[in-house]
Amino acid sequence: MRSQPVWHGTREEAVQLTKAIAANCCCEFDPTTGARAITCSAHSMIEDQRLLDGLAFVRYMAKRLVEQEFGPE
Ligand SMILES: [Zn+2]
Repeated sequence: MRSQPVWHGTREEAVQLTKAIAANCCCEFDPTTGARAITCSAHSMIEDQRLLDGLAFVRYMAKRLVEQEFGPE
C-alpha cells in the first residue's frame, strides 16, 4: 500500500501550490459520476513524494540564493 504524499513546505506554500495546480489542471471527469477519469500531469505530480520534496527544496534554495545575491527582503 502506497503512503499518502506529504508537503514539507509551509502552509502558505501549500496554498500557492494548490492554486498553481488548479490553474493548470486538465483532468477529465466522467460526466455521469463526476469521478476523475483521467488525471492530468499537474495532479499526477503531487502523488510523487520525491517530486514534492524536490519542489520544496528548490523553493528554499531559490529564496536563499536571491537573498545572498541581493540581501534580505
Ligand atoms: Zn488535474
